[in-house]
Amino acid sequence: MEITTGVHAIDDIYGAQTYLLIDDTLTLIDTGYDGNAQKILDYITAIGENPNNLSRIIATHYHPDHVGSARQLVQQTPATVLIHPAEVRRVSNDRYGVAIRMHSMGRLFRKWRSPLLPTTACEFIEEGDIIPCLGGLQVIYTPGHSPGNISLYLTKYKILFTGDAIVNTPRLLLAYLPLGGDRSQSILSAKKLAELDPEICLFSHGQPLFADVPARLRYLADNPIHFTVRLYVKERMAQRRERLFSHKQRKTIPAYTFNPEPVTDPVFTTPHSQ
Ligand SMILES: [Zn+2]
Repeated sequence: MEITTGVHAIDDIYGAQTYLLIDDTLTLIDTGYDGNAQKILDYITAIGENPNNLSRIIATHYHPDHVGSARQLVQQTPATVLIHPAEVRRVSNDRYGVAIRMHSMGRLFRKWRSPLLPTTACEFIEEGDIIPCLGGLQVIYTPGHSPGNISLYLTKYKILFTGDAIVNTPRLLLAYLPLGGDRSQSILSAKKLAELDPEICLFSHGQPLFADVPARLRYLADNPIHFTVRLYVKERMAQRRERLFSHKQRKTIPAYTFNPEPVTDPVFTTPHSQ
């Protein structure tokens, strides 16, 4: 799906949303789980581009739902992988990283297979780096969910890619905190993103935001709530109840008094406790 000229969200990716940027060369942001490589290559071909023109894969961080297909893509294209060094240190050294690498050995856990390290060299990107793509893709260091999570800002287009700093499932929230996550860092990262002035916000998890983006980011930074499964289930059920209620209304209230737009934007409602 083309979001704007040169910026695509690749459809039907299993795992984190994958984005494709088209300039002189092609840039991929994340890859989803292992098993998406062919789908990504097919998408590139389907829009009339050449997979041999894929020059870089930016990994927002080293979780398997984001970099699962990177190794396959590196094998099949000239692309190199760009990642923040804190991610590589984590995967090389700490217990969580070792766990990820152990998963790589188990066929039972195919989707968790470690895709890159230690076999594939990565190039490092850090805060303030500008990747030469579509007028400049700025690297913003936004740790918390993981020690080396990055967000990316396409300055000229005012498009923000949050990585796993912020998600939109089912509404704007800080990404969940896995083992090794840092709550206070993640809040600081949200504040950092709230200082930007994006017109479009593209998430690794959740639907894009096209309206009131800076205000929504600021609200989240001031009222930080992290994604949890409990919160997700609770809010999805509330949304369902709301839809059901609207449906009943449609049957009982004459059409001319019925407001077909239910209140679906909970972003500015009172924050729920976790
Ligand atoms: Zn993640």
